[in-house]
Formats: sequence, structure tokens, C-alpha cells
Amino acid sequence: MRLLIMGPPGAGKGTQAEMICSEFGITHISTGDLFRLNLAQGTALGQEAKKYMDAGEYVPDSVTNGMVRARLNDADAKAGFLLDGYPRTVAQVAELDGMLGATPLDRVLELTADTEEVVKRLIVRANEQGRSDDTTEVIRRRLELYAEQTAPLTALYKSRGLLVQVDGLGSIAEVTARISDALKS
Ligand code: ADP
Repeated sequence: MRLLIMGPPGAGKGTQAEMICSEFGITHISTGDLFRLNLAQGTALGQEAKKYMDAGEYVPDSVTNGMVRARLNDADAKAGFLLDGYPRTVAQVAELDGMLGATPLDRVLELTADTEEVVKRLIVRANEQGRSDDTTEVIRRRLELYAEQTAPLTALYKSRGLLVQVDGLGSIAEVTARISDALKS
């Protein structure tokens, strides 16, 4: 199964992605996690990505596309994967289409959540985890970019008949159950 999970920052994508991947036995591919891993390992790619992530801006496609292409070629992605955080722009959708070739995505899951709720969650996470891009100003910029550049992708995937929308409000278990039902139907 080849899936994509979308939703604004703070909608709970990362948490739900882990649940979906263990339930369906597929590999979680999160671009945010890959950038943070590169940063922790001190790679040039990580250093480059940090400049953008700390400002809440999107990392340039020249960095991001190659990283995703390489990750999709890893052996553990062959049996299926859940993309989380990519594609984020119309241009990245075209790139991904090229990478996937004859075996496109099976479903695109959109986790919906209202802005006030996600801001609250992100501020709590900032206090708990100390992510450097979870400051109020950067959170606002990430939400703005999501609305401008990423939210329009849901209409695009809807027109391909792939979109499944799930309400991201509620407990983690409630949301997981909703996603699981939606993916099995
Ligand atoms: P969130 O979705 O909660 O903002 P992520 O962990 O998915 O957090 O991403 C963190 C940051 O990584 C983004 O703000 C952005 O700077 C960068 N990033 C992740 N995925 C992409 C992508 N597909 N294209 C460009 N930048 C990306």
C-alpha cells in the first residue's frame, strides 16, 4: 500500500502515521524526520535544511526531492510506505508522480483540524519537546505556508479520486480508529 498523509502542522500526522504504519506493515517516510535526522548526524543536507526549518519556510526542492527519491528506493519502502510531509507543493506532486511511475499512490489521507486547536497543540509540544521551529512566530508562518501552498493539494488529489478526509479532533485512539475504518472501506 502506498499512502500519503496530509494535514496542517499540529494535526497529529506524525503520531497517526506511526499507528497506520504498524497496523498496515508499511514504512513511515517523514521528510521532517529525515531533515532532523540529517541535522543530528551533522550532514551538509541537514545544515542546509535547518536554515529553512528554523524560519518555518519550506526547504528548497533541490534538497528535498533528491532526499525523498533516495528514501523511496530503499528496500524497506518496496512493500509499501506512508509519506508524511511530502509532497507539500504542486511542483513536488509532479516530482512524486515521476518517482512513483506506474505504481501511483493508493490513497491520500487528510487529517483536518481547526487552526486554534493546532496552535494550542503546537505550543504544548514546544514546551515538551523544545523543537526549534515550534515558536509562536514560526508556527504562524508554517500554518500560513500550509494554507497557501499545501492545502490546495487536497483538491488535486480529490480530483484523482484518492482523497479520504478524517477529523483529527479527539483522542489519539479515536482518530486512529477513524483512519483505520476509512482506509479499510
Ligand atoms: P510540520 O508539518 O509539523 O510543520 P514537519 O516535521 O513535517 O513538521 O516539517 C518540519 C519542517 O521541515 C517544515 O517546516 C519544512 O521546513 C521542512 N519540510 C518538511 N517537508 C518538506 C517538504 N516536502 N518540502 C519542503 N520543506 C519540507
